[in-house]
Amino acid sequence: MPDYIKEIAALKEEFKDKVEILCGLETDYVTGVTEPFAITKEKYHLDYLIGGVHLVGNSANPEELWFIDGPKWEIYDEGLKKFFDGDIRKGVRRFFEQTNEMIEREEFDIIAHFDKIKMHNRDRYFHEDEAWYRKLAMETLDLVHQKGLIVEVNTRGIYKKRYNGFYPSPWLMAEAHKMGVPMIISSDAHHYSELTLEFEAAEEALWQANGSRHCERNVVTHKKPHRNSFGGEKTI
Ligand SMILES: [Zn+2]
Repeated sequence: MPDYIKEIAALKEEFKDKVEILCGLETDYVTGVTEPFAITKEKYHLDYLIGGVHLVGNSANPEELWFIDGPKWEIYDEGLKKFFDGDIRKGVRRFFEQTNEMIEREEFDIIAHFDKIKMHNRDRYFHEDEAWYRKLAMETLDLVHQKGLIVEVNTRGIYKKRYNGFYPSPWLMAEAHKMGVPMIISSDAHHYSELTLEFEAAEEALWQANGSRHCERNVVTHKKPHRNSFGGEKTI
């Protein structure tokens, strides 16, 4: 970690007249377990934070966490059985509750893969058009809106072939757009070769979600406010 921070700082300095480089981190939120985001930000002198939920807790025991990410759907299935008695509504509710807690308690800028809980579902346990699911997702989106966060449009599922679509789904992109919630395209790259994978498809999806009407494309910066892609002002 310190090496990564140091390298970014050196590149910031080297290219300061050509491009503004921001240093950020995706941080995990687990109720009662993870370090407050503000401390992480301060410790590493970060410009911005992306907050995300990957491990869902259903008890006070920090050992009992449902891992909803990673390449294996078997682990998702096992965790659901073990920690939520196989009750998908309970598991999904807890995922969104934990996300809501993160939004309310922590200071960060971008929400990571908003509906990652669907990745290993693969239409087996629930469908996204079920009313209970939509209600939970919309409550979280309302909170995102209230707090002025940016929603990440994450392409990783597609190029890793784990989920054939974006996080969030197009219906959520459309709702976010209606509410004026800014969105940012991200590949969630774990290697430089992945940096811009599926960006064109994501732009197209955002365009469609906006009813193929004009969207503004702009830059997020921490120096001065820019108009974001959907008309508001966003400064990190
Ligand atoms: Zn993540």
